[in-house]
Amino acid sequence: MEQSSMSMAQAGSGQLDPRTSVGRPGEPGTPGARCTPARALAELHAGNHRFVTGTPRHPNQDAGHRAAVADGQNPFAVIVGCSDSRLAAEIIFDRGLGDLFVVRTAGHTVGPEVLGSVEYAVTVLGTPLVVVLGHDSCGAVQAAKAAAGTGSEPAGNLRAVVDAVVPSLHRAAERGVESIDEIVDIHIACTVEAMLDRSPVLAAEVDAGRCAVVGMSYRLSAGGVRTVAAVPAAMATDPTPAAAAA
Ligand SMILES: [Zn+2]
Repeated sequence: MEQSSMSMAQAGSGQLDPRTSVGRPGEPGTPGARCTPARALAELHAGNHRFVTGTPRHPNQDAGHRAAVADGQNPFAVIVGCSDSRLAAEIIFDRGLGDLFVVRTAGHTVGPEVLGSVEYAVTVLGTPLVVVLGHDSCGAVQAAKAAAGTGSEPAGNLRAVVDAVVPSLHRAAERGVESIDEIVDIHIACTVEAMLDRSPVLAAEVDAGRCAVVGMSYRLSAGGVRTVAAVPAAMATDPTPAAAAA
């Protein structure tokens, strides 16, 4: 976060304070344009629909917008995604500079630095939506399943990634789930739960209705996302393709 000190100062001064800003329809990523969790989610679905259908607009990627957001940011969504190279957030949601606050780790595992980054976006920048983004055939989940199956721990710090996925494997085993992609869905839901359990700051924002946490599973081949968990639960419904395109 190379802009952290400046942005915190700006948010504190009120110049870009998202709490006092008025949302401007159609400009969810524009500085000062705070929107609701539902509106932010609709923007993500709309962008993903454009990506899936091969009609991307590549918004907010021009030099003019780069200059416009240089003095501050007001991203409308936090993406806590897997580091997989095929899961580039701005591409699959067809967004640009200043739109998405992205934190990625292998298997979207969430340690203190990840939670601190999310809390920064939600409380300082006023971002109204947190998305946990997993995907089919996730290598981190596969590695954890393989390690559990053989009883062998991976070398180095990769062990921390595997250990973070183990509780999700236990949840899957309790339910008799064995396929990797079904385990991925469970791991996404477990990550949503874990974030809210370990971050009272985030949980308070959700309880107050200022933020929502949604877990999505991405299909590597088709490019679409599917919601597998949400808090509040009302955010768990995926739009129809026609609604997403609207
Ligand atoms: Zn992955």
